[in-house]
Amino acid sequence: MTLSSAMATPAALSSGEPNAAGRSRTRPHVMFVPSAGMGHLLPFFRFIGALSSHDVDISIVTVLPTVSAAEAEHFDGLFKDFPTIRRIDFHLLPLDASAFPGADLFLLRWEALRRSVHLLGPLIAGINPRVTTVVTDVTMVSHVNPIAKEMDIQCYVLFVSCATMMSLLVYFPMYLDKKEAQADIGDVDIPGVRRIARTSLPQPLLDLNKLFTKQFIENGREIVKADGILINTFDALEPVALAALRDGTVVPELLPVFAVGPLSSLAREMKAEAEDTAMAWLQQQPAHSVVYVAFGNRNAVSHEQIREIAKGLEASGCRFLWVLKTTVVDRDDVAGVRDVLGDGFLERVHGRGRVTKAWVNQEEVLKHPAVGLFLSHSGWNSVTEAAAAGLPLLAWPRGGDHRVSATVVVSSGLGVWMEPWSWDGEDWLVSGEEIGEIVKEMMADAAVRERATKVGEEATNALAVGGTSHKSMLDFVAKLNTI
Ligand code: UDP
Repeated sequence: MTLSSAMATPAALSSGEPNAAGRSRTRPHVMFVPSAGMGHLLPFFRFIGALSSHDVDISIVTVLPTVSAAEAEHFDGLFKDFPTIRRIDFHLLPLDASAFPGADLFLLRWEALRRSVHLLGPLIAGINPRVTTVVTDVTMVSHVNPIAKEMDIQCYVLFVSCATMMSLLVYFPMYLDKKEAQADIGDVDIPGVRRIARTSLPQPLLDLNKLFTKQFIENGREIVKADGILINTFDALEPVALAALRDGTVVPELLPVFAVGPLSSLAREMKAEAEDTAMAWLQQQPAHSVVYVAFGNRNAVSHEQIREIAKGLEASGCRFLWVLKTTVVDRDDVAGVRDVLGDGFLERVHGRGRVTKAWVNQEEVLKHPAVGLFLSHSGWNSVTEAAAAGLPLLAWPRGGDHRVSATVVVSSGLGVWMEPWSWDGEDWLVSGEEIGEIVKEMMADAAVRERATKVGEEATNALAVGGTSHKSMLDFVAKLNTI
């Protein structure tokens, strides 16, 4: 839908029943303003899927072309599966990328979105039925919230990382205000939550001049003024951080935090499984025998490190399924699996190991009884999916918020974090030997499996009727109706 067709949308789409006061009741109209990157889009799509079963109108602001091919495919799928959801096309103003040397395409897209977002006001004003709530991504909240406030519209953020990361986001500006101006960024002790070591902070935060850091600080200052924050987590997974955010310990504001996770895949993501050859292979493997290895959509592990991982998997003697991504953006990923892994590897592991560059239905893989361990970068979606599956996770953070998420992997009992292992920017390789040993150890450890199973049960309980996440979702829907 373009702006002009959005304006022409028939008002009949709103329910228009009279309310107690005899006035015509308009049902809530929630407009989603998502960001870029599958790690940001998937939770939006999943949350939208969950919200669509409630009595609300839904629109999505859509920027085309997307950065990655995976994003484009998932947008298409969403609009096919939910034909009543409006697509509002949004055209970005051009951005001079040369002004941001070193920034990846996703970060540049976030900046382009932020710089175009003032066009959102007129867009929203032209839509019928009237938009009553905007749900945006954290990367844009400092721009979207003021627009929403000016238009007397509620503004929520769907936060795509963990509650612990949210506490860092809101506390970081206060930390800076308190710190001596000339002092370096050090460990950040988040009141009531935990101390995040300097070495575990998202790497750009160590440099206040980085584009990411400027966005982070602005968004951190503004998000506390939004009407509420939806987080893809659940109370039993992060009880301490959630309580500290809600009761004013982290920052003085009592933040209305709705923990609504773990968000589940949409039916379409599940359907992909039938054609997926990796899944067909998994079906034939014994219970708990396979290590699933994946580092998310936008983590380009170096070829040298990939070869060490290969050595480790081979040495572990375990079966494995490895989703291999070698570039930040999938459209650039042209290297063949064989070239990256080196001669003879695929032959040597034939029958017990599979390597794919295709999109797999990760949530389905993690729930498969054959899988016994997830070697993951601990991107937050991956962590929540492992939690939902009750599957032990071996966290090997690669960058950004991954080390913060890894603290939750450990504190919740979901798995193990190899703290000394290097991440982006640390110029040394973790050896195949070490990788192989820890993989083998974790696969054989019944206590590790038991603890992860317990987390899985807690996730199920959170989502069940009467569970904490189920209640949070209903509370959020109730807020939508206070218009
Ligand atoms: N994913 C998937 N299949 C793939 C690659 C990724 O389903 O082949 C999904 C994965 O299940 C998760 C998301 O993509 O939901 C990745 O998000 P995460 O936060 O774990 O990592 P990011 O890609 O943002 O680093």
